[in-house]
Amino acid sequence: MDGMPCRPVPRFPAGFAPWTALAAVLAALLALEALLGASHASQEPSGPGYTDTPLLPGSRWRVHDAARPRPEVVRPGADCGAPPSDAVVLFDGSDLGAWSHRDGREAEWAVADGAFVVEPGSGDLRTREEFGAIQLHLEWRAPTPPEGESQHRGNSGLFLMGRYEVQILDSWDNPTYADGQAAALYGQAPPLVNASRPPGEWQSYDLVFTPPRFDDDGGLAEPARITLFHDGVAVQVHQPFLGSTVHRAVARYEAHPPTGPIVLQDHGQRVAFRNVWVRRLQPAP
Ligand code: MG
Repeated sequence: MDGMPCRPVPRFPAGFAPWTALAAVLAALLALEALLGASHASQEPSGPGYTDTPLLPGSRWRVHDAARPRPEVVRPGADCGAPPSDAVVLFDGSDLGAWSHRDGREAEWAVADGAFVVEPGSGDLRTREEFGAIQLHLEWRAPTPPEGESQHRGNSGLFLMGRYEVQILDSWDNPTYADGQAAALYGQAPPLVNASRPPGEWQSYDLVFTPPRFDDDGGLAEPARITLFHDGVAVQVHQPFLGSTVHRAVARYEAHPPTGPIVLQDHGQRVAFRNVWVRRLQPAP
């Protein structure tokens, strides 16, 4: 982690007095609150919220429902990229206990200096736990000096549910086909922009992924979708996957269970990883 700044430093135009303006806004809000409080006093339940408002469409909750469960408190990590309190930490810098190879062998990738590195020829790694809808954070670094070109330079991959690949590639000054560069849904959707850092520098993926849903007969009801930030830059926005990742073919879906492992690809190049964590996403009550 590099302790990336989370809070931008505020800048005010010359002559602007922020505290005076803030006080004026607060006074206006307090006045408004008093006004609203008076008009709604007779409707106020014992806790904050209402019991006499209309039902939200498609929901058992009312508008401003006093009985609706409040979202659970989650403390954000101290730095951008640090795991929040409810994260499943998949790698904290010390060991690969959360991972195995796809065939169940103990992970053979090397751990050093708070990172782990692809061991070429050993095979992909998969999480021992399985996941459905998730938020995921992962940091990766392509080897330097760079070797090879196109798909043979710093290639790995992040396979969601073991099937849906977000490409990991050294895409710094390394032309390749658009749907195969870093942050592409491989063979399906290029990233909106190329937000790559040079090889040897740590890069980050932050994403939200929702799995596909299938009908009882195995047909596709809803595709898998992803929103992805590469080094903090939005590169995939609610983008559907066309199906399980394939090479030189059009992807298609086949029905599978509602959870699956997170997989990191051994593509023969020593890509490094660190600070990997995931949060299971549940629909709000
Ligand atoms: Mg790959």
